[in-house]
Amino acid sequence: MKNVEIVYRYGSGDAVIPPRPVDASEARRRLDDGNRAFAALLDNVGGEGPAARRVVEVDPRDLGLLSAGGAPTQRPYAAVLGCADARVPVELIFNEGPNDLFVVRVAGNGLGGDALGSLKYAVDHLGDSLKLVVVLGHSGCGAVTAAVDIFLDPAEYLSIASKYTMRGLLDQLLVVVHSAARRMAAIWGPDVTQRAGYRDALVEASVVSNAALAAHTVQQELSRDARGMRAAYGVYLLGTHDVWAPRGEARMSRGWPIRRATWTPSMGSATP
Ligand SMILES: [Zn+2]
Repeated sequence: MKNVEIVYRYGSGDAVIPPRPVDASEARRRLDDGNRAFAALLDNVGGEGPAARRVVEVDPRDLGLLSAGGAPTQRPYAAVLGCADARVPVELIFNEGPNDLFVVRVAGNGLGGDALGSLKYAVDHLGDSLKLVVVLGHSGCGAVTAAVDIFLDPAEYLSIASKYTMRGLLDQLLVVVHSAARRMAAIWGPDVTQRAGYRDALVEASVVSNAALAAHTVQQELSRDARGMRAAYGVYLLGTHDVWAPRGEARMSRGWPIRRATWTPSMGSATP
């Protein structure tokens, strides 16, 4: 395997620093492009040869390097609500550096009061630069998987009955799991629960639904006060390093198991 080098370079005189996105579409495109570049870099590590290398040019002002001891001005162009999972380092997978993203992370990327309050702060106070809010789920999410296992075997709920903080997280996710299960039964019939791979498919459907629903809620809650603010969602696939989302009719196809071949490698919109 080749070495992988990701270099964050500050202050290079001939560096081309990309300008901040001017609207939500541009912000989304930049995140999609950044993720594709990151995934492509890691696709290139097989065999021998020089290191797979990528340089992320960073404006030195974003670390306060040109402001004579003063703090840099906060100016992220997107806010991201992601899972606390250590395998999903948000700036890295979008090929971004400091001061680009306002990141909120909580297990299962659920939209509880603290997360929504943090996003609202960003929208209210960083609106000059902030153009987009993204909810980012990921494959193999432990919090969503735990909620699915409790849904499939409710007796398991007793093990967390007195753990209030855990219950807070999982109760929120159980609503999503329940609606994903109902949707799957509506498409594949009630005996879908007996099919091979049902648990994994329910985890996958719940991860997508959880991110899409949170993005939709963010759009409804926050865009009232911030014209032009948009929300989007995506699912980071741990195996391929891509951020994907289902599209249109492909949101749940009739084929079994759920086929990611019908998804597209970019984020989905919070509004249908
Ligand atoms: Zn997770």
